[in-house]
Amino acid sequence: MVQPSKALHKVALERLKERGVSLEEIAELVYDLQQPYIADVTHEICLENVRSVIKKREVQNAILTGIELDVLCEQGKLSSPLQEIIEEDEGLYGIDEILALSIVNVYGSIGFTNYGYLDKTKPKLISKLDNHEDKEHTHTFLDDIVGAIAAAAASRLAHDNPGISDIMQ
Ligand code: MG
Repeated sequence: MVQPSKALHKVALERLKERGVSLEEIAELVYDLQQPYIADVTHEICLENVRSVIKKREVQNAILTGIELDVLCEQGKLSSPLQEIIEEDEGLYGIDEILALSIVNVYGSIGFTNYGYLDKTKPKLISKLDNHEDKEHTHTFLDDIVGAIAAAAASRLAHDNPGISDIMQ
């Protein structure tokens, strides 16, 4: 029998892939965040940290919950007014960010700074997901989840490089 925690990890990875998110693209966000601070950081190291973040149960729970809500919304299956709020990615809703913070939380305070930065600047994959022109897809939760995974992976990396944490705060 498959261990429940192993099953959860596998499903979380599958869901991200189904929603068009590659771990390499998340790793690229991590690379861009950390490269100014850690000169010898590589894409492989970033990818490794992304993989480690997704092994955490809290992170898997957030991925599954957020993606489920995005998908149900795409299918028009939520009740009003939640259906319209998530569909329109209403600015004052804020629960997408709160859910993502449960990911950032896992690695402490540096994660919050990185998450805020990604949420504000929306680089690369995040802006692709945050594209409101695309009426077919809802990524209200996914863009925040991706930003949070990248922020958490960047924090994990910083913790592995003593001295960097101080610079980044
Ligand atoms: Mg959002």
